[in-house]
Amino acid sequence: ERVDIVNFGAGPSALPTSILEEAAKGLLNYRNTGIGLTELSHRSKEFGTLTKHLESLIREQLEVPSNYHIAFTQGGGSGQFSAVVLNLLARHRLLNPNVTDEERVMDYVVTGSWSKKASEEAKRLGGGKVNVVVDGRTYSKTGKAFDNIPPHDKWAFSPKPAFVYYCENETVDGVQFSHEEGSAQAFPFHLTDPSVPIVADYSSSFMSRPIPRLKDHALIYAGAQKNIGPSGLTILIIRDDLLVDTDAAAKLGAAPVPITLVYKTLADSGSLYNTPPMFPMYVSELVLERMKNSGGLQRLEEANRRKATLLYDTLDEAEKKGLVKVKVQPGSKSWMNATFELVGEGAEQKFLEGAEAKGFKQLKGHR
Ligand code: PMP
Repeated sequence: ERVDIVNFGAGPSALPTSILEEAAKGLLNYRNTGIGLTELSHRSKEFGTLTKHLESLIREQLEVPSNYHIAFTQGGGSGQFSAVVLNLLARHRLLNPNVTDEERVMDYVVTGSWSKKASEEAKRLGGGKVNVVVDGRTYSKTGKAFDNIPPHDKWAFSPKPAFVYYCENETVDGVQFSHEEGSAQAFPFHLTDPSVPIVADYSSSFMSRPIPRLKDHALIYAGAQKNIGPSGLTILIIRDDLLVDTDAAAKLGAAPVPITLVYKTLADSGSLYNTPPMFPMYVSELVLERMKNSGGLQRLEEANRRKATLLYDTLDEAEKKGLVKVKVQPGSKSWMNATFELVGEGAEQKFLEGAEAKGFKQLKGHR
């Protein structure tokens, strides 16, 4: 039985009750096959239909062009921190066999703790050097916190990096790129070299509004557990030119790539090289179908804009009264994860207890 609460969890997040009820039925008997979804072969006709439908729901609503593959895999956003580096360094090696590891550069835009973590994984894996294009903390009010998308004139891209990496919505810090064309907080595509692949972590804003300039990206990835389904599913939108033969790159000295992380393997096999995360794919299909039937991404974008405006207006009022502090600077505030602090000794604990008593759950942010 569902109880009447409001779940604010940033991820895993709340899913509609009607969807969970439908998914529960499918667990017992999937579309009159007599077999539950988690007991069905991933190579069955029924699951093939589900996969194609899930793909088309994403492709249509995000207007993904035909030179991009949509792949479903596992390992989460964190798995992609590694996969991005391995696949893109292999690609760079094939295109530039004479460039040394010392000269090979990966450009990371660090606007919060997730992009920072991704850049640390790139450093750990090696095979190239990490250039931090810009670090949001340098331009914060305190000099320590991630609270802004830094001014574009402070960004220092490398001349020919293997790729440029950014995180569209920083879940922990509540910092998000603007999707208004020309905004000072939009991603500065105009400053990048069009031949350099751009990679974006969309884990916590995927399918919450259209993706601006999707065609200027080489790779977009997201975990399902924030906006569309249970954890366990990672969605990749991969441009054709990233599907490279990583074994050929390894012969030239690149690091060998574990087969389940190779983008070409995932795309060529139609996400069936190994068993994909079937249940999260099923729930995501139900969620995205409902989204499509209730007005699609455009309507959702409008709803999300209204919610964000209402929430930040309310927080502004509370800030004027000295009750809360909103750290993130104007223009960089996330629509998905609004972060704020309570002012005064013990106020936060009291607020959380009061919220809990009213059925407002999981409001406490990242530790
Ligand atoms: N990137 C972002 C923006 C995230 O919010 C998260 C998860 N909180 C991750 C990456 C890591 O994802 P996962 O837990 O699926 O590895």
